[in-house]
Amino acid sequence: MSGLSLFDRLERETTTTRWVQIDFVGLESQLIAWIHQNVPGSSQLVVGLGDDAAVLKPNGAQVVTTDLLTDGVDFLIEEVTPEQIGHKALGVNLSDLAAMAASPRAAFVSLVLPQSGTKQLSALDLAIGLYRGMLPLAQEHGLTIAGGDTNSWDGPSAISITAVGEATARGPLTRSGGQPGDQLLVTGRLGGSILGRHLQVEPRVSEALLLHEKYELHAGIDISDGLALDASRLAEASGLGAVLDLPAVPTTDAAHTLGEQSGRTALDHALADGEDFELLLAVPPAEAQRMIDDQPLPVPITRIGEFTKQHGLWQRADNGQLSPLPAQGFEHGADE
Ligand SMILES: [Mg+2]
Repeated sequence: MSGLSLFDRLERETTTTRWVQIDFVGLESQLIAWIHQNVPGSSQLVVGLGDDAAVLKPNGAQVVTTDLLTDGVDFLIEEVTPEQIGHKALGVNLSDLAAMAASPRAAFVSLVLPQSGTKQLSALDLAIGLYRGMLPLAQEHGLTIAGGDTNSWDGPSAISITAVGEATARGPLTRSGGQPGDQLLVTGRLGGSILGRHLQVEPRVSEALLLHEKYELHAGIDISDGLALDASRLAEASGLGAVLDLPAVPTTDAAHTLGEQSGRTALDHALADGEDFELLLAVPPAEAQRMIDDQPLPVPITRIGEFTKQHGLWQRADNGQLSPLPAQGFEHGADE
């Protein structure tokens, strides 16, 4: 600063400030124009995009969830595409709606963008890429992007999505309805998500709705932070403990591949990696058997343990002996 007179500095700062403000207005209005052309409306909304607020007309209980992804914490902006970030940001919200067996309705998208964009993209192209990542997933699950806000600053990107769903006639599926003796069932396979699946989230929405309609489910959670940690959360919320039969835990090919690199077992990765976005369900024994026999989903349903009155997380040996299992996993922060 020493080479500049006070006048120069004032002029430069004033000019910079004015430039930022003009750019900010430009970015938001250009993005809004793009959104109006590219984001479909919905008859489910009384008032959608373009007013001061959205108006929803619910049929059933509203289920609301929110997630915040930040550059440097949840992703590295130079290592992934904005489409991947957009897909994931909406996918994790949809996975939470799936965990509650709620039918997706609307999403509200808030973006904070770096004024000067990334190495590759302007702030506007970054924003459009994020939306392009969200739109196919929104369409697949019957969800409308009904509003949001965009801001830019001299800092990293962040994307926050709030999703609204509706409970079905059976009501929401919660974490707290488990009973002693309930069987623990998991959809799909677990582990090794860092090899790609953590970005290609496939939320189990239609699977959860189908199971909730056809079977009596007592409690459920989506596996975001690792089977061990999420199983212990589900048990705790139901005031119970969980016993896992470890050889029964279904592992992905990625968990085995990662195991070869890490020197840990595929099972370790299934227990602790997280970001599987599969469902863990507590189901009364007879109903669990019916689900195992029916296999009504495109992905397998596997019995991996049961709820017990004895608090804590346990592993069961072949001889039936219980020993404590550490509730290790990936702490993303509060996932409520
Ligand atoms: Mg969750």
